[in-house]
Amino acid sequence: MASIFSKIIAGEIPCYKIAEDGNYFAFLDINPVQKGHVLVVPKDEKDYIFDYAPEYYAGLWKFAQKIAAAQKAALPCKRIGVAVIGLEVPHAHIHLVPLVNEGDLDFSASKKLSLPKSEMEEIAQKIREKL
Ligand code: 5GP
Repeated sequence: MASIFSKIIAGEIPCYKIAEDGNYFAFLDINPVQKGHVLVVPKDEKDYIFDYAPEYYAGLWKFAQKIAAAQKAALPCKRIGVAVIGLEVPHAHIHLVPLVNEGDLDFSASKKLSLPKSEMEEIAQKIREKL
């Protein structure tokens, strides 16, 4: 069965899209740990990020680099933090999180935000404009 992320990529489930190319897709995390938290996902669905062929794996990080540059330009932060967790959704993805402090990269359930649709769309638009 297709993962929730494959359904998002296929347009079957809505998302706040940031960018895509032939191989990769980026969108806002629905419960961000910080405003502007983006997920970068390979279109080829595999559970574990280190299972991809080296070239495809390298391309994922190259794509993520572009997204991170746009986030940093668009949002008030010191830098973009990176995490790969994958304990919730079994479809490899990179978390890109705008940071001010070390503690901002905290994925505890109690730290997750639920922002209004209008704010999520505004954040996505700001990031897209910097791509
Ligand atoms: P992980 O698998 O890395 O532990 O976490 C999966 C992440 O995906 C979580 O941060 C969660 O908020 C996000 N997520 C789960 N389902 C959806 C969804 O349907 N849409 C979006 N945009 N994000 C999701």
